Amino acid sequence: MRELWIAGNWKMYKTRAEARAWVAALIEHPQAATVHLMAFASATLLATVEETAKGRIWVGAQNLHPGREGAFTGELSARQLLDAGATAVLIGHSERRHLFHEDDELLQKKVRTALDSGLRPMYCIGETLAERQGGRTEEVLDRQLTRGLAGVGAEEWSRLWVAYEPVWAIGTGETATPAMAQAAHRFTRDRLQALGGEAAARVPILYGGSVKPENAGELLSQPDIEGVLVGGASLEAGSFAAIAAAGAERQKTS
Ligand code: PEP
Repeated sequence: MRELWIAGNWKMYKTRAEARAWVAALIEHPQAATVHLMAFASATLLATVEETAKGRIWVGAQNLHPGREGAFTGELSARQLLDAGATAVLIGHSERRHLFHEDDELLQKKVRTALDSGLRPMYCIGETLAERQGGRTEEVLDRQLTRGLAGVGAEEWSRLWVAYEPVWAIGTGETATPAMAQAAHRFTRDRLQALGGEAAARVPILYGGSVKPENAGELLSQPDIEGVLVGGASLEAGSFAAIAAAGAERQKTS
């Protein structure tokens, strides 16, 4: 059966009680049983998610500092995130790139730190509206992949995911059409193959950008879309479970 990854990015939302209730509701949902579920949560929630999920949900952090430890007030190391229960981490989310000015060189260091420490990175890429309208989508994706994933070793590709998230579709209600998303995913897979051969071409590529229960099934039926990264529609357990159910439905027909 085709493996599918259904990931929620909670951003700066939820208290511990809310996180506990979300996880408890989701793991009771039988329709979500065949897909991989992931929750990228604030650091304050990681331990709660891990304790409540009973191994059923991948626990992800939303950011990390590239250093091992040190005088970096307010930052979190890979070791601390692992200790809190995370096994995965988002790197290069467009909000980190654009609101916090993180560039590909910094993100490459974060990917390196994550892999070295045993945290599995989900590396996010995506073009802005101006870049798409200017015909530069592929150039941008190529640059983000080449720089951010520089130095990933042959045996490391199996420990990461890539998320394609067009910036203009994040939190805007605009979604790439399935054909647009598929084209970007196909390009991403070809570039991954050029960077790391067959092992890199097998990296799961998730689509993100205003995914909801109504559009998840069609997106997930595209051959190069192996999952979705969901912001707004992941906050409520019922709508996230409906997206997972759409994934499970696709698995039956693929
Ligand atoms: C995201 O934050 O990664 C995202 C895709 O958000 P939304 O689903 O709200 O567009």
